[in-house]
Amino acid sequence: MLKRNNLKYIVLALVTLVCFHWVLTVTNPKSSYSKSWSGLSESEINGEILLQDDINNTTSYQIGKAKACFVILIRNDDLHDFRWTMRQLEDRFNHKYNYPYVFLNDVPFTEEFKKLTSALTKAKTEYGLIPPEHWNIPKDIDMEVVRKNMEQMKLEDVIYGDSIPYRHMCRFETGFFFRHELLDKYDYYWRVEPNVQFYCDIDFDPFMYLKENDIRYSFVISLYEYPKTIPTLWNSVKEFMEKYPDYIEKDNLVDFISNDGGENFNLCHFWSNFEIADLNLWRSEAYMKFFDFLDRKGGFFYERWGDAPVHSIAAALFLKKHQIHFFNEIGYKHEPFMHCPEDASLQLKCHCNPDDSFDFQGYSCTKRFLELKEYWNVTAIKNRG
Ligand code: GDP
Ligand code: MN
Repeated sequence: MLKRNNLKYIVLALVTLVCFHWVLTVTNPKSSYSKSWSGLSESEINGEILLQDDINNTTSYQIGKAKACFVILIRNDDLHDFRWTMRQLEDRFNHKYNYPYVFLNDVPFTEEFKKLTSALTKAKTEYGLIPPEHWNIPKDIDMEVVRKNMEQMKLEDVIYGDSIPYRHMCRFETGFFFRHELLDKYDYYWRVEPNVQFYCDIDFDPFMYLKENDIRYSFVISLYEYPKTIPTLWNSVKEFMEKYPDYIEKDNLVDFISNDGGENFNLCHFWSNFEIADLNLWRSEAYMKFFDFLDRKGGFFYERWGDAPVHSIAAALFLKKHQIHFFNEIGYKHEPFMHCPEDASLQLKCHCNPDDSFDFQGYSCTKRFLELKEYWNVTAIKNRG
């Protein structure tokens, strides 16, 4: 008798709970459950990707608001290394924003590559073939000299010193990726490489941060370049500056890349395997002229000029100081260096050890960047009043 009574109460409690829940669901238009009446599947709801728009009193998918995408120059063989990276990027950031991916390759992507990468995201994935004229050796390059120099660099153990594909990669990332037709519709990009790691929840939109703060180039790791890869780069840059002084921004960041006001390059540069930046910086007349000028010098082949120093030098000369940003919040590793935010509050969102962070090791230039920024801020405040 007692048992049967208990059962009655349990059933009554359950029915009350279900009714109560139903009433709440129907009467509260902001409830994410209410959205299930209007088309979203269980898995979409469970993915917690719903956002509330208080102004319109609606609930919708959050998709990134900027005209932006990830850009990945990659080989078919890098597939599994990239899946590992992409999983982290989705989990830490993109499952909430759904920014599209643009994959670029000098040979066609395999079906397997397309299938396994598109399976990792709800966002759009696009696969582009690089036109041969963006991955070529210009006809006035003397290949005998290139071969001789490559042999010498190999003897001197210069990393990738004797690699032609690496030279194509650097030249493409410096002067061509932003001209690919798949990028025409975008204003911002985030460069990602296979095998890099993302250590922290990125629960803000870095693209919108750039847009709202008039930032045009951002980085997480900076360091000194290997001088044997760029023996004549700075002289070429100086020649360009003399020829086209009007392209140089007055409020520039030359002090980051030079200790003597631009006489010599101090080798500091932003590590370009991570970049979140404005595509229109590279599409600008100043940069197109700059790239063309450097390309005609042949240094991408005769030496082994990297996209990192060239992008960094251009950003430092053509942008205003406030337009270059250090994303401390984004924990990141590209072997062998990592950036891990130290701040206790940021650490709660990360899984990296700040003691391993490269930022304050001797070979990093980030301390210099932050000190200069601090100095500029103080000076700007003093000048204001
Ligand atoms: P490192 O970071 O300087 O050691 O250079 P990586 O080997 O990581 O190359 C930089 C990026 O370019 C990576 O995303 C590679 O997948 C990509 N990459 C390098 N060489 C080639 C190539 O010959 N073809 C294609 N399609 N991608 C390349
Ligand atoms: Mn790499």
